[in-house]
Amino acid sequence: MTQGIAILGSTGSIGRTALRVLDRQRNRFHVAALTAHSNADLLREQVNEWRPRFAGLVESAGVDRSDWHTGPSALIDAVVSPDVSIVLNAVVGVAGMDATLAALHAGKRVALANKETLVVAGALAMAACEAGGGEIVPVDSEHSAILQCLGARGAADVHKLIITASGGPFREWTRDRMAAATRDQALRHPTWSMGNKITVDSATLANKALEVIEAHYLFGIPYDRIEVVVHPQSIVHSMVEFVDGSVIAQIGVPSMELPILYALTHPERVSDAGIPRFDPLVAPPLTFEAVRMDAFPALRLGIEAGKSGGMAPAVFNAANEAAVALFLDGDIPFGGIATAIERALTTVPVTGKIDLDTLMDADRQARAVVGGMC
Ligand code: NDP
Ligand code: MG
Repeated sequence: MTQGIAILGSTGSIGRTALRVLDRQRNRFHVAALTAHSNADLLREQVNEWRPRFAGLVESAGVDRSDWHTGPSALIDAVVSPDVSIVLNAVVGVAGMDATLAALHAGKRVALANKETLVVAGALAMAACEAGGGEIVPVDSEHSAILQCLGARGAADVHKLIITASGGPFREWTRDRMAAATRDQALRHPTWSMGNKITVDSATLANKALEVIEAHYLFGIPYDRIEVVVHPQSIVHSMVEFVDGSVIAQIGVPSMELPILYALTHPERVSDAGIPRFDPLVAPPLTFEAVRMDAFPALRLGIEAGKSGGMAPAVFNAANEAAVALFLDGDIPFGGIATAIERALTTVPVTGKIDLDTLMDADRQARAVVGGMC
């Protein structure tokens, strides 16, 4: 019997890569559900090839498929069915959150690429795991690396997590030059090919802040024991320093295929001849450098929001999502992204009772602040 996988965001970068991996693992897994936001043409192709029981399209205007589930509830409908054992959440943004929580409450494994879920609602997601018996296995390459480095060890054995960052396309740029960087320049990532939103997040380093918060919740490590180090080659995907001083790193070529496969099979390892292999003899020299915190204000703001807790990470995330969308549409300059995040974090109240309603209210307020800036 093969395990059923639901892929949320199957038409995106992670979703398409996952289908390439699954194509080689048909003896272990079958595709039970596929969902997209609005890319009906690609979803149709994927449905024709994979014949899932469930297909969902959130924005379905003009699409004549009465057999497809439509509207925002399509994501939740996709994950709760008994034939789904693993939910690969590859939706971008907070739009993926409700489905993550529903899957965890329903006792599923969530192979989580959608890091925004943990940033906005980390505590609620961990509580949903407890309540429903579900589990989160990270797809993000740094967190997959940390999970693999940890092995059977837990937080008590960890001195610190060292999360690597490529540094993005502006690793060596001054803050002034970066302020006016164009869309094309921001989308030219040196080592990874990804969707537009995370590619811009990797240029501002907001992505690293999201990942620090993600690691805090996933592994239960306090913020002062999570370090970010720039590693331009993206070969060491992250490291764990244990209490005895031993450091274990996970290494591989920059490809999401391995972290996706591992999130499905963890703690097992399965052979896959299609996964790109690492060869130390052809690898470039591996270098490490300190992150220039003053040049990347979005990173500092995000880590501070994580440390503040409450609604602050939700405000950081929403402001970032809104600002990145404005930047991609040409409405604000690159430097305006961090300015917008800072404005939202100083305007929207971040204390008070945390539940889904208050988090979503903070999310809406942050978007309104950013929207009002242009
Ligand atoms: P993409 O933009 O390439 O794909 C996003 C997917 O989500 C698409 O299938 C899109 O559908 C769907 N989607 C977008 N908005 C909504 C919505 N409101 N409701 C439902 N579905 C929606 O993103 P990536 O694949 O690059 O990233 C996905 C997630 O994985 C992000 O959280 C990212 O941070 C994380 N991640 C990505 C990595 C990568 O290598 N790409 C690496 C590590 C993490 P449609 O195509 O119809 O618009
Ligand atoms: Mg990552």
